[in-house]
Amino acid sequence: MILIPKVLLDLFDDHYECAFLLGKRVREYWIVDALAFVHAEIGKSFRCIPPLRHDVIGVIHSHPEEHSGLDKEASKAWSVYLIKTGRALRGFEQGMPSEVILL
Ligand SMILES: [Zn+2]
Repeated sequence: MILIPKVLLDLFDDHYECAFLLGKRVREYWIVDALAFVHAEIGKSFRCIPPLRHDVIGVIHSHPEEHSGLDKEASKAWSVYLIKTGRALRGFEQGMPSEVILL
């Protein structure tokens, strides 16, 4: 299960199309407590090796359509992978669909 403050999501919506998720694992939860915004070309953004920082737990990005096959592959590389499509937010943990809770 993934927990993210709504205020971070609003900030993301207003300004960016992708960001790194900073946070931590607490019991069965992934808790997002900050975003590190990046300028990247959607479609190529997250085909990168996850950085070796313990606090970078994943990525978030937005696109106008449903997630793609590319997302399915890319999401496996991250503990947390979030996709914003319009008002919908989808979450994945290591490539598997996961519930996302707004705080
Ligand atoms: Zn995508």
